[in-house]
Amino acid sequence: MAADAPAAPDTPPAPPRDASGDTDAPGRAASTASGRPAMPAAPAVARQAASGPQRAMAKLGLLRDIDLALHLPLRYEDETRLTPIAQARAHAAEAVQVQGKVRDARIDLHPRRQLIVRLADAGGELLLRFLHFHPAQPKQWAPGRLLRVRGELRHGFFGPEMVHPTVRVVDADTPLPAALTPVYPTSAQLPQAYLRKAVASALARAPLHELLPPGSVPLGLPGLRDALQLLHHPAPGTALATLEDRSHPAWQRLKFDELLAQQIAQRIAREERAALAAPALAPRAGGLADRLRGALPWALTPAQQRVVAEIAADLARARPMHRLLQGDVGAGKTVVAALAAATAIDAGWQCAVMAPTEILAEQHFRKLVQWLEPLGVTTAWLTGSRRGKGRRAMLDAVESGAASLVVGTQAMIQEGVIFARLALAIVDEQHRFGVAQRLALRRKLDAQALEPHLLMMSATPIPRTLAMSYFADLDVSTIDALPPGRTPILTKVFADGRRPQVVARIADEVAQGKQVYWVCPLVEESEALDLKNATATHAELAAALPGAEVGLLHGRMAAADKAAVMAHFVAGQIAVLVATTVIEVGVDVPNASLMVVEHAERFGLAQLHQLRGRVGRGAVASACVLLYTPPLSETGKARLRAMAETTDGFEIARRDLAIRGPGEFLGARQSGDALLRFADLQHDDALLATARELAPRLLATHPEAARAQVARWFGGKAEFLKA
Ligand code: ADP
Ligand code: MG
Repeated sequence: MAADAPAAPDTPPAPPRDASGDTDAPGRAASTASGRPAMPAAPAVARQAASGPQRAMAKLGLLRDIDLALHLPLRYEDETRLTPIAQARAHAAEAVQVQGKVRDARIDLHPRRQLIVRLADAGGELLLRFLHFHPAQPKQWAPGRLLRVRGELRHGFFGPEMVHPTVRVVDADTPLPAALTPVYPTSAQLPQAYLRKAVASALARAPLHELLPPGSVPLGLPGLRDALQLLHHPAPGTALATLEDRSHPAWQRLKFDELLAQQIAQRIAREERAALAAPALAPRAGGLADRLRGALPWALTPAQQRVVAEIAADLARARPMHRLLQGDVGAGKTVVAALAAATAIDAGWQCAVMAPTEILAEQHFRKLVQWLEPLGVTTAWLTGSRRGKGRRAMLDAVESGAASLVVGTQAMIQEGVIFARLALAIVDEQHRFGVAQRLALRRKLDAQALEPHLLMMSATPIPRTLAMSYFADLDVSTIDALPPGRTPILTKVFADGRRPQVVARIADEVAQGKQVYWVCPLVEESEALDLKNATATHAELAAALPGAEVGLLHGRMAAADKAAVMAHFVAGQIAVLVATTVIEVGVDVPNASLMVVEHAERFGLAQLHQLRGRVGRGAVASACVLLYTPPLSETGKARLRAMAETTDGFEIARRDLAIRGPGEFLGARQSGDALLRFADLQHDDALLATARELAPRLLATHPEAARAQVARWFGGKAEFLKA
């Protein structure tokens, strides 16, 4: 580190921030402003033993020059101007830079040891106060020395003073920096001055040449190198507000490039997929799917008919389907999946249905078995908890092709599971699966050189902007209306103090033969969070509801125990089910009429919507009670109110996106690191539309440039975008 530190004998190392003694001080202004790279070597690569700051940089992901070039300032300091001391008063509470001669420097011992420097310029005088200082400093700042000082001015007992300003010894002709000084996000182990130099030199080295052909960048946006140069070192006159709100053309250019890279990556993924071969599964009149339709106790809704047709059209093609089926909770996605499965099986192939939890897989299994076995379909059931002989038998059935419908958890994509003729993979609640898992399922057919069709299902609707960006490589089918005959769910928001009334209401429901869910956020008492645990609530409800069976279901139970409890609830033997969020998705118990969510304020809106969707699945009038523990913040109240105001999943998803950003929707996709760092889908839809329009044209006319654009932004991570 010592080798990299600026040779700055006039630097007061006070107080040292780390072993290197580097401080946020001198030398930097001149070097960065002149654009002269002050850092001699590539910081993270060149050396064998990384120093502390280098390790800290690596930890922040700042490895390549381009990473550093894209590490943008949080804010800027204006060191381009000097303020006369006499005028500095006006700037109180804001850092100012002054320059003056030392009158004297002395060490005071009262009220505590400190170094006090008296500094004067032509029109005024100022005290600099240092509680920590280096013994050499009083000498370095001897009377007559010219100091350039930056800090917050305050009015002390003896007039204006600065406590621990940044100090630099200068000559009368030492130039002021020509650009604003960037302040970067950093960590305790990474001094700002070090990072600043690392960024400045990386920026000079990074390959930022224009990749895009002339005319393709939206009018008025600068080149990428110019844009970054400006964002790191804005000229003094730059309107800082436009940098802060990211509306400045330099910001727009950065966002545009990022969005474009994302669009191209997904285009490429789409084209590569289109080039793959998949079994063409044409529906047969009077075949299995038709017979299943005929056997259903109800008719498909128009929305279901539409998505069934969309999926059938995909399956009939000899290239792999890559489709997301979205529909609100209770919209009836399962039967759509079953019809797709029937089409595949009817054509002599296998279908795999994968769910994120055993409970969900089990739900699917029962329903699909109930629908398809009477029609002669042989099913297999694969989960992690099934071991030994039973598992062996299932594996054999899958490998021999004897079982044509395979339902289970991710256990079905583990080693040792071999499909004889997998043609269709259906993944429920796809956002819960890791990208790698989904890739693994797709590769199951590699041996046969045919890709399976992939149908993903989600009850969390993807807002339009997300569908256009992160999920641009997906075709989307939407079930936009619920089956008829549902009674709307009434949602009430209560403070926890009204528990007794809620318990009384539960007693009523149970007396009428209805069933109730009670959801708690945590399994065990945590020291940090004052949450009632499921076990305590279970005991409380059991005591309050004599004669009613109260069950308990939580994440730490063995899978078999969970399944047993769930089976009892489904069968109606358990009247009240106290559960952690393991029941969050997909469980279907039409007799359940009341959902109580404890500590509702701790859940995301999408999660609450999922939970609420567990009731109102039959004809019985249903209610959802959201209990919160006061005090609740204004946004907290607004969020729960939103739940009471609407049962529309799309509206809730839209509000959730606005409140919490895209993370919830992306789930495992985040691990692909393809998250947009600069573009913001709430505000940048115009840029997104432009990028979306340009991507296919660029790929057609300048394929190399298009691929280089993806490599620049996502490096080796683009593969994950395809999943
Ligand atoms: P989800 O989309 O949440 O997975 P399900 O597939 O579990 O929803 O369906 C919810 C309930 O609606 C189930 O009980 C299912 O049998 C029923 N259902 C599905 N489609 C229809 C329909 N067209 N008419 C009546 N009930 C239906
Ligand atoms: Mg479902």
